[in-house]
Amino acid sequence: MVKAVVGANWGDEGKGKITDMMAEQADIIIRFQGGANAGHTIVNGYGKFALHTLPSGVFYGHTTSIIGNGVALNIPKLIEEIDSIVEKGVPKPKILVSDRVQIVMPYHILFDQYEEERLGGKAFGSTKSGIAPFYSDKYAKIGFQVNELFDEELLKDKVHRVLEVKNVIIEHLYHKPAIDEGELLETLHQYRDMIAEYVTDVSSFLDKALKEGKTILLEGQLGTLKDPDHGIYPMVTSSSTLAAYGAIGAGVPPYEIKQIVTVCKAYSSAVGAGAFVSEIFGDEADELRRRGGDGGEYGATTGRPRRMGWFDCVASKYGCRLQGTTDVAFTVLDVLGYLDEIPVCVGYEIDGEVTTDFPVTTKLEKAKPVLKTLPGWKTEIRGIRNYDELPENCRKYIEFIEEQIGYPITMVSNGPGREDIIYRESPLKK
Ligand code: GDP
Repeated sequence: MVKAVVGANWGDEGKGKITDMMAEQADIIIRFQGGANAGHTIVNGYGKFALHTLPSGVFYGHTTSIIGNGVALNIPKLIEEIDSIVEKGVPKPKILVSDRVQIVMPYHILFDQYEEERLGGKAFGSTKSGIAPFYSDKYAKIGFQVNELFDEELLKDKVHRVLEVKNVIIEHLYHKPAIDEGELLETLHQYRDMIAEYVTDVSSFLDKALKEGKTILLEGQLGTLKDPDHGIYPMVTSSSTLAAYGAIGAGVPPYEIKQIVTVCKAYSSAVGAGAFVSEIFGDEADELRRRGGDGGEYGATTGRPRRMGWFDCVASKYGCRLQGTTDVAFTVLDVLGYLDEIPVCVGYEIDGEVTTDFPVTTKLEKAKPVLKTLPGWKTEIRGIRNYDELPENCRKYIEFIEEQIGYPITMVSNGPGREDIIYRESPLKK
């Protein structure tokens, strides 16, 4: 059986924690899209980790961790990450890398930097990990699949052919030094030696695993609103963040995905530019940012302060719908315990009309939040394990949001640790 853990919003919903928790009951955990541009923060017995490339299941001895074909693979970053967790005492994980995954090339990262410089103030707020140039090349069919590193003849020819084009842009658009063919080839040889032991035919491995009744977890990065098709284009990422894409980015049949756990955070945060209707500012935002997550809402990759906002029912209902949600995991609820009252965005006012349907980006820019204020619970809820023991106002907050979004909240996370989870029977669960 395949299960997916994905985000409903702008990312940073706490997918890493939920994946780490669900990995206990899984055999295989696989990343199916994105690259080292976003990170998951995981807290467990070994310490606190910010993972960028490895799936969140690497801390268990019984799991196989996989980098699927849909990922943008930064080889030195992957190796660094493996070394860094082993250094902290985590047993060396079993890792497989798809022979079809494509490689983030050194020039992809340069192109991100050069393009941001060129755009100046009009930049998209890229993390400069080379992700957009990488996916552009993948679909322009000039990307490098990992298996090509092992065919010297092909590699030489292709490096020559691709650099012919890249160097024109580097020299004449960006006015930077051209890339040397020999040097690039040498780097790719190093990449080949670093990755060789992990490369395998992943989809065939997964096919066999499914036939043996194994449980596979697909771990998404970012969330629905960053999807290039269904998100807030163009302020999106370059690969699909939807559970459906898990079938493609891992190489499994779509009908095998039986459970889709969509992670929603109890308030909103976003990184980068783009419309963010329920955004808050000033002291109100600073306080939530400081108290948020586990040690504040700052980017796991960049350290940038995240933009903060109240829970957005319109965006989350849409986010859950596009994921095909079977279960909502409602996270970081413990953080809201300091508030007397908690505003929730229940509608968007666009040109004088109120809607609960998430609009296209051109209309989204004009949307103003319609807020409803719920009473707070003013207590610490960490440590509680039974739903009935949560304060009444806290349960009301959860149930109100569940009704607004229309998808069953079956898990409530009230702390960063694996054990900080409350399972709940939902009236919406079929
Ligand atoms: P991801 O990219 O979706 O995995 O999200 P991040 O890891 O960037 O952000 C989630 C942050 O919240 C991390 O620092 C987690 O340790 C923390 N976290 C996850 N669940 C909870 C929770 O229920 N309560 C608290 N206080 N922190 C949580």
